[in-house]
Amino acid sequence: MQGSLFVISGPSGVGKTTIRQELTKMMPDLFVSVSATTRPKRPEEINGRDYIFMGPEEFDATLSRNGFFEWANVHGNLYGTPTGPIEEKLAKSENALLVIDVQGACQVRARIPSSSVLIFLLPPSINELESRLQGRKSDTVEQVKLRLENAKSELESLLNYDYSVVNHTIAQATQDVASIIRWCSYRRKYDRQGKN
Ligand code: 5GP
Repeated sequence: MQGSLFVISGPSGVGKTTIRQELTKMMPDLFVSVSATTRPKRPEEINGRDYIFMGPEEFDATLSRNGFFEWANVHGNLYGTPTGPIEEKLAKSENALLVIDVQGACQVRARIPSSSVLIFLLPPSINELESRLQGRKSDTVEQVKLRLENAKSELESLLNYDYSVVNHTIAQATQDVASIIRWCSYRRKYDRQGKN
């Protein structure tokens, strides 16, 4: 039986990147996918660690040779999950984590329905999300406005998800996601043993 693909989505500014970093520390054996993107690199980001930064031509070429497990246009930039490492992990019955948008999560669910676990990360409130986005300083006023508009439509996808976690604090939300991953992995192993 193949491993599970855990997918975390949620609106911009909800804390996905920080929770991904904390999960990496808490669960060092969990493979965390690094996405490719055409978005310009932010000063604090490192190519290959945070994203694989590429131009639109390289992205298109990768896409046309089925190099993305899923991909989407988010806020005007292209993002995709490289296929190779994911297929390799799943084939070895290992788990992997993707932090991607709602369109990508939908593609993952369609591609591997029984091996995907979708987790939606929620802000405590829309007002809280707005102040987190404004405090981030990496985005312009227009970008904050666009990301808030997108957040409202992303929230409509919540019903397609298996679990939701409210990010009151990073420590609590990371623990909640880790518990979901441990529980689902345990249940899958147990189901597998039951079938042998
Ligand atoms: P940011 O540019 O702020 O890092 O990310 C913008 C959005 O793109 C976030 O919602 C993030 O989760 C999403 N994203 C990052 N990588 C991928 C990916 O590989 N595929 C998809 N579909 N979305 C992604």
